[in-house]
Formats: sequence, C-alpha cells, structure tokens
Amino acid sequence: MPAAPTFCESCESALAQLEYHDAGTDLPYLLCGSCKDRLIARSLRPLEWYNLAKRHGWTGYLIHDDFYEEDGEALQPMTEVEDASDLPVPHLKDVAGDPRRLLEYSVTRWDFDAKLQKAWRTHPPDKILEEVRRHTQAPVSRAVRETCLDVMTFCVKGNAGDFVRESWQVEGLGLHSLVAASAACMPFTDAFERTTKSLAAMPDAERAKSISVLIHFQNPKILDWIEENYFSPHSDHWGQIAAASKLDWPRVESWLSSGRPLSLVALDALQVIANPASPLLQEIAPELLLAPSREHFIHVLREYAKRDPMPRVTKQVDRLLSA
Ligand SMILES: [Zn+2]
Repeated sequence: MPAAPTFCESCESALAQLEYHDAGTDLPYLLCGSCKDRLIARSLRPLEWYNLAKRHGWTGYLIHDDFYEEDGEALQPMTEVEDASDLPVPHLKDVAGDPRRLLEYSVTRWDFDAKLQKAWRTHPPDKILEEVRRHTQAPVSRAVRETCLDVMTFCVKGNAGDFVRESWQVEGLGLHSLVAASAACMPFTDAFERTTKSLAAMPDAERAKSISVLIHFQNPKILDWIEENYFSPHSDHWGQIAAASKLDWPRVESWLSSGRPLSLVALDALQVIANPASPLLQEIAPELLLAPSREHFIHVLREYAKRDPMPRVTKQVDRLLSA
C-alpha cells in the first residue's frame, strides 16, 4: 500500500515539500514551499500560524509572541499578509466540546489560564486521559507533551500517575510542567525523589534557578529538605518555596534562632506570605500556620533584627511589622 501523502502542517492543504528546523523547537515543521516563504517573512495567516503552534507550541523563533498575537495576527510581517480575515484561529467555544481540538488549542495558548481549565473540567477525567494517550502515541513535540502534563495537573490528577511517570523518561521537558504534574498526580515520595534527584544532577547555576519547582509540592517535607540542602547564593526562591510549603510559626522561630542562612529564608517567606508576588504564589495563597499573637510576632522579629542589624534585615523587619 502506498504511504499516505503528508500535508503541510501550516496550510494543511498543499503537500509537504520540506522540513524546516526552527530555533527553540525540537521537531521540524513539515511545510509546502509557499508556507515556508510566509514563515520566513513572518507573514503567516492566522490559521496557518495556529496550525503550526498546535503541533509545536508557540515558542519556536519564527512563530513566537514577538511575531504573532495569540489570535494569529502577524505583528512584524515583512510581506503583506493575504486573506488574513478568511483564515481566523478557532475560539475556545469552537473547540471546548471536543477534547482533541481542545488539546490542540491549549498548546497554542500562552497560559493555561482559568478559562482553559474550566473548559477542560467539563470533560470526564478518563476521557481526557484517553485523548491524551491517543494524541501522544505518535512522536509529539515537547510543547504538546508539556501541555498534556498541564491538563493532567489541573484536571485529571490521581488517574494520570502512569502518564506522568512515563513523561520523566522524555528528554528535555520543562521541569515546571513535569514537577507540577508529578506533585498533583503521583504519590508524594515518588514525585519528590524524582524531583530532588533531577535537581542534584544539575550544574550549580541551573540548580539554583530550578529549585523554584519545589513550590508545586506545598508539603512541609520541603521545609526539612531546605534545612538539609540549603546552598548559596541566597535567592528569593528559598523564601518562596518555604512560604508555599505549609510553613508554621514554630519553624519560623527555630530558623530565626538558628541565624543565617535559614533566618533569611524565614524572613523572605514571611514577606511572601504577606505579599505573594507571582501569579502562581497568588493562586497558592500561602498562610503562616500556628500563627502567634501579634505581640509575640513583633517581639521575635525585633529581637532578631537586633542580633542581625544588616540593612536588608532591618528593612524587611520594618516592612513586616508595618503590614
Ligand atoms: Zn502550506
């Protein structure tokens, strides 16, 4: 039997004639000559941009968000974009009822936001898992698999443990998607061991940036890990992880008494609890458990500031006490 013809991944109507390797993607785009010319000229029509983004994500250099809006509008076209209005990208309402199309749409979005999560939650978890399994039978780009992990994190959870475990074998996946899905879908010990093993294997600079993934566990065992594994340089990540991990006041007091570096982590964590800055931390809305009386809180922080009067500490204590 002759092989089925391969269509261009962008227009989906002409036959594919070539492979184009774009920076920032792991699989090549299969394109016809005309779409390749429009891709190079940053002049794809909205639906052509969408068709590439649903297979490869939107972070490839020639289709990323400097060159296209989320509705596929070309922002820096080098040639005229022809018939753009005849080829619009689908809206969420057009795809929400069909898990396959909803998955494609999700891959093209800049954020897995609340509207998208709500659309996914209208489907039963077993149907979602079935669709994700079907979609990932053939080789898929990293972006598609990371989106599948996001879907598991928000909408499938416990049923998706095997899919997430298998994803740890896929090279090059973003650690945030992988750890968030592991924390949501796998038993804590398994997820935590894989994550800390992966962190331990990284070069120092990469590990220092990547520890922020521990935020996803929201488990006090992460506080024990911080005590045993803190490493310099000090960064905001330590306080963010601690704040998100069910931090309680006895632990804060113990860290303040032990002095640096854990005292600095404790102060940073209190600051994050008072004012969670990132969207993820705002969603987690960390709280200080077993909170003391206001008087005791003020007393302990003032005593610490006396013992460690560096400007950073004084400023931070003042801010916490004025909150
Ligand atoms: Zn084409």
